[in-house]
Amino acid sequence: MIEQSKPKLLRKTIKAGELMNQVMSDYFYGVNEAATTGKQKVAWCTSVGPAELLRALGFAVHFPENHGALLGATRMATDLIPGANAIGYSPDICSYLTADIGAYLKGVTPLAKAYPGIQSVPKPDVLVYSTNQCRDVQDWFGWYSRELGIPSIGIKSPRNLNEVGAAPIEDVSQQIQALVPPLEAISGNKLDLDRLRETVALSKECTELWKQVLETAKAIPAPLTFFDGTIHMGPAVVLRGTQVAVDYYKVLLAELQQNVRDGAGAVEGEKVRLYWDGMPVWGRLRQHSEHFLQLRTNVVASTYCSSWIFPAFDEKDPFRSMAQAYLELFIVRSDEYKEQYMKRMIEEFRIDGIIYHDAKTCPNNSNSRYGLPKRLETATGVPSLVLSGDLNDLRCISDEQTKTNIEAFIEQIEEGK
Ligand code: SF4
Repeated sequence: MIEQSKPKLLRKTIKAGELMNQVMSDYFYGVNEAATTGKQKVAWCTSVGPAELLRALGFAVHFPENHGALLGATRMATDLIPGANAIGYSPDICSYLTADIGAYLKGVTPLAKAYPGIQSVPKPDVLVYSTNQCRDVQDWFGWYSRELGIPSIGIKSPRNLNEVGAAPIEDVSQQIQALVPPLEAISGNKLDLDRLRETVALSKECTELWKQVLETAKAIPAPLTFFDGTIHMGPAVVLRGTQVAVDYYKVLLAELQQNVRDGAGAVEGEKVRLYWDGMPVWGRLRQHSEHFLQLRTNVVASTYCSSWIFPAFDEKDPFRSMAQAYLELFIVRSDEYKEQYMKRMIEEFRIDGIIYHDAKTCPNNSNSRYGLPKRLETATGVPSLVLSGDLNDLRCISDEQTKTNIEAFIEQIEEGK
């Protein structure tokens, strides 16, 4: 247990955070301006949907999952979810969905508080989804489509793939291409293939830099934590395909590489290195980050932050490479693949233990339900802990239980070292 009398350990601040706040602020104001002035058409896109195509067609792009995460991080979500439940959306389905629809029904958004002048999420002209991550996104956009009377179109992706072979790539590639005519009609722009290639090339550069950022945490001590990653991945989510995101990650990477050279870890006196599987608990980010810090434990790698690494992007073959990139995602894959992937992560990041967040409302991104932790533990000898909780619905979380379980787990790891 943590002794209260011990001096508090310090977390190293990432200086690039200030620049990131500016980048995100410019992004939110930019999309808001597009929606309020009508200068640009607005598309809503799922977080791993075909954002490159939307940008190339000149849309300003809003990501409702990002808004869902903001509702969670500002702890507004829990009070808003019942609003969506009342119109028939179960408390057991995605709490991004229920929080976001609940916020719409109440006419509130955390953007209004953070960015004076913004009054609501940007009104969309079209909703574009991919079910590569889950069906919830299609249902989510379906609700807005009926409510606002605008089209919801998208990609029905195969899931649970072991290998990503030619057939599913061809299928998804054709589905992305089929989106072009309706999107051209809505945007009023003809797709310029060179612009699409340029956007895919920028996404590729962004993804490569983001990968390098996350890989700095292979160093001992690691210069960043999972909790930093959940914040700094913002531009990779909402601005991939733009020069702004590329420029930001160059700055962040340079700072982290310097910290590695200086031996400056994010967690003072790092002793234990963990892997986090599953969604973050947005309303407890600060609390979890602080708790691990005081236990001299760094969560150095995660499935979640790595989900915005898309090695397959290739501007020479934009449609097929987008299809491949969005099919190769961890969340789309079979347990066999996931097991092999996590084994690699354990070795590369020198992981002492794994935490699986079993998020009540996101079975799609909870990987502890079909025996994976036990199999991986047997294969690697690396212990694991399953935490019951949720990404947004804080009623599903027992803070005391979580704290006690984490402390016992770290003690177990330290004894075994
Ligand atoms: S993957 Fe999970 S958190 Fe993300 S939209 Fe789907 S159900 Fe919600």
